[in-house]
Amino acid sequence: MTATESSAERAAPVVARTRPELRAARAELKGESVAVVMTMGALHEGHATLIRMAREQADHVILTIFLNPLQFGPKEDLSRYPRTFDSDMAIATAEGVDLVFAPTPDVIYQDGDPGVRISAGPLGDVLEGQSRPGHFDGMLTVVAKLMHLTAGTLFYYGQKDAQQLLLIRRMVRDLDLPARIVSVPTVREPDGLAMSSRNTYLSPSDREVALCLSRSLRAGAAAAEEGPSAIRRAARKVLVEEPLALVDYLVLVHPTTLQDVPEWYKGEALLALAARVGTTRLIDNTPILVGPGGGARDVFSDVPEAPAAPILPA
Ligand code: AMP
Repeated sequence: MTATESSAERAAPVVARTRPELRAARAELKGESVAVVMTMGALHEGHATLIRMAREQADHVILTIFLNPLQFGPKEDLSRYPRTFDSDMAIATAEGVDLVFAPTPDVIYQDGDPGVRISAGPLGDVLEGQSRPGHFDGMLTVVAKLMHLTAGTLFYYGQKDAQQLLLIRRMVRDLDLPARIVSVPTVREPDGLAMSSRNTYLSPSDREVALCLSRSLRAGAAAAEEGPSAIRRAARKVLVEEPLALVDYLVLVHPTTLQDVPEWYKGEALLALAARVGTTRLIDNTPILVGPGGGARDVFSDVPEAPAAPILPA
């Protein structure tokens, strides 16, 4: 494809629904590097940004669209999660995806509920894990399966889901998976709201209320030079002023241990929060450099590198 070719002229990606279809289409991707962007569909500009970055850095891009039942609790929103395959395909085409893998649960879980799963360990029990028991085990299990099935070499994840990103990096390290992980900064609406497929649940008034999440993070980041208590205080003040947002947690934690940072701490930290607005549970976060010259950052600079692993054969 040439640089001048417009997105309108791009060919639609090949769609694979089954394992044999995926295997056949994957074998056609001859380049050395194959990037994979994993999604649950209902694509928006955040997903498009991951795809764009993948496309710049790899020879081929595989997009997976799979609403993974294993990572939804019984009272969560699996049944109402937006399903927008046609517009997802339009985005995939415009962004130059080569191959879309869109399986149904019976393709991924051939024998039904998998007895063997990946355990996220203690990092999966805090923050999101506290409100969503088993969520990260289900997420890691499908991520590992999709890594193997796609035989990708580079995998792109959003900073928006900071704990997910951390756990995927840990899994790659702890299990020596031959995968390189790339993190992508959170993409926001012009007014600050982090883009999310779940934003479609928000009524216009909910949406106004939801702005307090990013406002809180900005207030916290603005106090970065004053230290952890000032950051927490500034972020909390914004949330307290919005009683219609029911806060689940607001934390300032170490980026790799997820433990609260102490008052003397200087360096990178994660300011993260979750809140319910109307019927919708929203999460947001910002990396912060705490201490002199501190403030908000897009992504963490000092991410643990995945092992320099051999690339899986194409
Ligand atoms: P999802 O479809 O919500 O599971 O998201 C698929 C991928 O897109 C994950 O790696 C997310 O972290 C990433 N993502 C979702 N929303 C955003 C956003 N607003 N900015 C950056 N990445 C995002």
